[in-house]
Amino acid sequence: MELVIKNLSKTYANGVQALNNVSLTIPQGMFGLLGPNGAGKSSLMRTIATLQSADEGSIHLGNLDVMANNEELRKVLGYLPQDFGVYPRVSAEMMLDHIARLKGIHNREERKAAVEILLQKVNLYKERKRNLGTYSGGMKQRFGIAQALLGSPKLLIVDEPTAGLDPAERNRFYNLLSEIGDNTIVILSTHIVEDVTTLCKNFAVICGGEVMLEGAPRQAMHLLDGKIWAKAIHKSELEAHRSQHRVIATQLVEGKLSIRIVSEENPGNGFEQVTSNLEDVYFNAIQSKMDLVTL
Ligand code: ADP
Repeated sequence: MELVIKNLSKTYANGVQALNNVSLTIPQGMFGLLGPNGAGKSSLMRTIATLQSADEGSIHLGNLDVMANNEELRKVLGYLPQDFGVYPRVSAEMMLDHIARLKGIHNREERKAAVEILLQKVNLYKERKRNLGTYSGGMKQRFGIAQALLGSPKLLIVDEPTAGLDPAERNRFYNLLSEIGDNTIVILSTHIVEDVTTLCKNFAVICGGEVMLEGAPRQAMHLLDGKIWAKAIHKSELEAHRSQHRVIATQLVEGKLSIRIVSEENPGNGFEQVTSNLEDVYFNAIQSKMDLVTL
């Protein structure tokens, strides 16, 4: 089964066009939706999750016309929104039991078993009696995944799940997500390239509401092979370099600025060729749009 999105567009009442003719085919497994803040990721996720409508376009999950069958889609959907709030004075176990009931698991024993399995899976079983308000950010996200997985969804949407997690929590979360079977379509939206390289078989880059790039990270990371050049400069030289070259990344290393540029030819002038990576490809893909944003 695939999720097929065709020509999706959305302009909000304030005139912001969040989605501009987005078409994507999302197979089973982990799919990364990568883009900077304001790219349109949440707008796309919410539209797929049937929480908001689009002005134009279609979404099909297998044979299911999502826009015409919101209720059917919701039965097979697991969703972890970006601003996932929890009831602070309820325990994880009680909350999951409640959500399981809402998701239609009416048999008490069946519900208890499903909740227990999920608590084990997300490694919160020992903490199941604790109120959610006492959980750390990482624990809340793991709880969020548990609630999203209730009812064995065919489509799982997680919106910026690693934002705000410390490295250890992020790692745990990666491990958890990577265990979700290949039989589920998982869409993971993120602005962190590492999320995509670590987890995703396929991905797309979205910026300014448009799909800039789509493919497999392992292949995409080679798109700029032979065209990435790096050099350490003084901060004051940056603007001059920007006017001459396509600067796609700047990073401070020991007080000096290391810059990376895209160039078909050897730019000389102290630049050295370096191996390209997915971050280069990502920043190059969004740069034209970002230029427009910063102008
Ligand atoms: P992302 O998730 O990639 O950060 P969003 O989909 O949240 O991007 O936002 C895309 C654009 O749409 C942004 O310019 C944002 O300010 C705007 N936007 C998002 N939601 C709304 C809304 N409900 N009303 C008006 N503008 C919105």
